[in-house]
Amino acid sequence: MPGTTRIIPLGGLGEVGKNMTVFEADGEVVVVDAGLAFPRDEHLGVDLILPDFSYLTDLERPVRAILLTHGHEDHVGALPYVLRQARVQEVWATKLTLGLVKSKLDEHGLLRSVELREADPEGGQVELGPFRVEFIRVAHSIPDAVAIVLETPGGRILHTGDYKLDHTPVDGLRTDVGRLAELGTRGVDLLLGDSTNAERPGMTGSERLVGEAFRQIIPVLTGRVLVASFASNVHRMQQAIDVAVDVGRKVCVVGRSMRKNINIARNLGYIDVPDEALIRPNELDDYAPGDVLILCTGSQGEPLSALVRIAYGDHPAVKVEAGDTVIISAKPVPGNELRVHDAINQLARCGAEVLHEEIAPVHVSGHGKAEELRTMLGLVRPKSVMPVHGEFRMLAAHARLAREGGVPEDRIVLAENGSVVELADGVPRIVDRIEAGVTFVDGLGVGDVHDVALRDRRHLSEDGVLIIVATLAGSNGGVAGQPELIARGFGEPGEELVVEMREEAHRVLAELLEDDVTEIKLLQEHLHDGLGQLVYDRTGRRPMILPVVVEV
Ligand SMILES: [Zn+2]
Ligand SMILES: [Zn+2]
Repeated sequence: MPGTTRIIPLGGLGEVGKNMTVFEADGEVVVVDAGLAFPRDEHLGVDLILPDFSYLTDLERPVRAILLTHGHEDHVGALPYVLRQARVQEVWATKLTLGLVKSKLDEHGLLRSVELREADPEGGQVELGPFRVEFIRVAHSIPDAVAIVLETPGGRILHTGDYKLDHTPVDGLRTDVGRLAELGTRGVDLLLGDSTNAERPGMTGSERLVGEAFRQIIPVLTGRVLVASFASNVHRMQQAIDVAVDVGRKVCVVGRSMRKNINIARNLGYIDVPDEALIRPNELDDYAPGDVLILCTGSQGEPLSALVRIAYGDHPAVKVEAGDTVIISAKPVPGNELRVHDAINQLARCGAEVLHEEIAPVHVSGHGKAEELRTMLGLVRPKSVMPVHGEFRMLAAHARLAREGGVPEDRIVLAENGSVVELADGVPRIVDRIEAGVTFVDGLGVGDVHDVALRDRRHLSEDGVLIIVATLAGSNGGVAGQPELIARGFGEPGEELVVEMREEAHRVLAELLEDDVTEIKLLQEHLHDGLGQLVYDRTGRRPMILPVVVEV
């Protein structure tokens, strides 16, 4: 039946992160992905960034289903927040994605708030109101990723999710090019395709190349070996574990999210580690450095992650010294480069050799490059293309590839977050736009989610900004003078509060300096938390707090 479908990206366009797309027809809505973005340095004081999904909370009917392409945070991280605020009937995801999501929802106390359904890539179509949905297996940097086909009143749509055409994936589960070609024969009206690596020529290397690099590098090493990667990169961890087991090193997993993910993946059969190969962090001292391999979080230089704490000699169980090797098996997400460089420098200062993707083949991307995008376009032969998942330049590069592949100019939709794209009789058009900004989440402290009251920062504008500038005096390291305070948008803080805030800032810094904590980022972190609490206690408000510590 010909009709119309509205497609509204709420996030993921013009950025890498917080992917979320609404599909609406006959008054019913399904959503593909509910991701978050991690804050950049300019967002100091904010823990998470969510898409503004008020469109969903304002709907008259509940969302029919949220369909998840894979378990990365930029695709599932906003789910707890969405489920708390919007009415959602079902969440569909493949087995591993569902395992990761269950644990996340459990931490947020939301496990019973929605019906969780397992998506089967071989399982045929699922009917969800006016939508008929099927899942197609794709290779990516986390197992069990899928593309999603939506048969809708306005036409047949393929959302690729994140993908690469790895012909030798570690689990042997390739992108299902056969199904994609078959889909092309059925006819695809609109392709929403991953654009992350559209600007890069050629093909992305197979995940197996990293395993081969580990196999070259690790056996000849004699000191500790640390491998830092994303906590969700199950195949990367598997490949490091395989080499460790072969050379007789015990494996120690450090970092809460990595331990959690390995447990989930092991329970569901996605990772294979013999029990006797694993040791706990507190057993590390019983082994010689050359007998252990440590898998850890922190590949993005995150301030309180295992790797960064290890680098600064601040980890209770793991230290790094001359003779050790640290493999950073990841690429910094745009915005994290400086943090990663800091961590590398600090590790080198400890005497470790640091191998990272610029100097050793220890990382491959999870996203297909231009040749793979061309192959996807060739297989699916879409009548129209809407590039998704990428900064604008990546979307534009994907649009060029589509044009070169013969998709007419007027059938390429360069949309933005909030664009309302109408697909009518198979033809897409941007017809409107809705509000689609960002929502900030700020939890005081980082760590155990059970204990952290995560607050919605939707009303950031009402709560305003507090900037605090403190100066440290050179090598003797005291606090120089009075910290300066600049408040914007949460009303004039009274003289009394200003004095209190200054004193609090001074106290926080002095205490840390006395404990020889001089790392600027840690100082700022503590300032943020201390002042945040004080301002909340006194005013009930949670302004965004930007601590700036400078050395003179
Ligand atoms: Zn991904
Ligand atoms: Zn992604």
